[in-house]
Amino acid sequence: MVQGGSLHRQHRQHLTNKRVREAQGSSHAGWRRFASSGVPVTGFSETIPSAMTAAPSRTDAAASAGHGAASIEASDTRFDTVIRRRPTRSVRVGDIWIGSNHPVVVQSMINEDTLDIEGATAGIRRLHETGCEIVRVTVPSLAHAKAMGEIRKRLEDSYRPVPLVADVHHNGMKIALEVAQHVDKVRINPGLYVFDKPDPNRSVFSPEEFAAIGERIQQTLEPLVSLLRDQDKALRIGVNHGSLAERMLFTYGDTPLGMVESAMEFIRLCDRLDFHNIVVSMKASRAPVMMAAYRMMAARMDAEGFPYPLHLGVTEAGDGDYGRIKSTAGIAPLLAEGIGDTIRVSLTEAPEKEIPVCYAILQALGLRKTMVEYVACPSCGRTLFNLEEVLQKVRSATAHLTGLDIAVMGCIVNGPGEMADADYGYVGKTPGTISLYRGRDEIRRVPEAEGVEALIALIREDGRWVDP
Ligand code: SF4
Repeated sequence: MVQGGSLHRQHRQHLTNKRVREAQGSSHAGWRRFASSGVPVTGFSETIPSAMTAAPSRTDAAASAGHGAASIEASDTRFDTVIRRRPTRSVRVGDIWIGSNHPVVVQSMINEDTLDIEGATAGIRRLHETGCEIVRVTVPSLAHAKAMGEIRKRLEDSYRPVPLVADVHHNGMKIALEVAQHVDKVRINPGLYVFDKPDPNRSVFSPEEFAAIGERIQQTLEPLVSLLRDQDKALRIGVNHGSLAERMLFTYGDTPLGMVESAMEFIRLCDRLDFHNIVVSMKASRAPVMMAAYRMMAARMDAEGFPYPLHLGVTEAGDGDYGRIKSTAGIAPLLAEGIGDTIRVSLTEAPEKEIPVCYAILQALGLRKTMVEYVACPSCGRTLFNLEEVLQKVRSATAHLTGLDIAVMGCIVNGPGEMADADYGYVGKTPGTISLYRGRDEIRRVPEAEGVEALIALIREDGRWVDP
């Protein structure tokens, strides 16, 4: 979409605005396409949430119905009930596309040593079968980079091609040039790609010194960018808060601005080389820092005419409930603002455990639908049956019906109103009796002991049941 390396800034802004309009116009068509064909996700079946097929939001509907009081709300995107994604260009990684015209992509990383060819191949396959759409590996040496050739071949021979990303570290040009032959995307860290050991006596970089390092970066980046461009492969400019280059630290501080400037330097170099298959990440281990960095990065790229997709993540989030909550606390607000085209939840656990968390975040925000959406009340003194038990029974009977929304509510006082958006409802009516709903309509009452079977029968009657 973005062509030419030396566009005048104003001209580029004009192009960006035009592309933004085009992307906004075409994204709906794109979603309709996905909605009709379904989006293949290994290990998951998926439907596109109706919210993403550009159904009018409540505020839109109210505005079009002519309610004057709603016009203030309708003009303010903060009150939208549909997430409007920041328009970004499409970047291909193997057979997966990253960008605002595509579903938000789920990524993770194996923890096997890439020199262990058998173990790494099995790890990549395991992750991909769990639903990880792009798998990252680390290549700390040339030998690791060469091993990726064999790993890729084994995957293709014994399984299928998997979209692969290779992480390159300190002074990694030669490693990157080797591994770029075998993977679909190379990830470099601007703070490490050209790396000088920190000098404890230095406290400042002169403009000349700053520029000289920039020159070295250009010289080492150019061969990699040319190779990726010629092979139509992608580059992730992956900034980490914890590994900013010394000259960026001294010039901009240990700040989101320092992270943004680090990425922008590489983006501009790529632009001069007419290379645009770029994804950017701005990870930090503290959610407020990474959120600030991503917001600033999105604003800066949009202002300068670089509509590149963003890969979201909180680094070193830890494990267990807190690791999941911390990741969600950082990733979800950005997605809700429309920022982010691919995510990774980094857990100190087996990487397969990250994948359900990613999909749950996306489903909760209405960005993807890879499982049944269960609406269940928390129970209270009015509850007419054992809610936890019944919810588990309903879940185990219907969890394979991806695309449905099923509500389990303890009583009729609030139940029917609160589950109004669900396809089916299972609601406590009187002690020992439950009501089954289709949408807002009560269809039948049955003894509680027959409730789950009766729900299945109702779904069957509607032609929406499939055998597990
Ligand atoms: S739906 Fe009924 S049982 Fe459930 S929390 Fe609300 S009032 Fe209580």
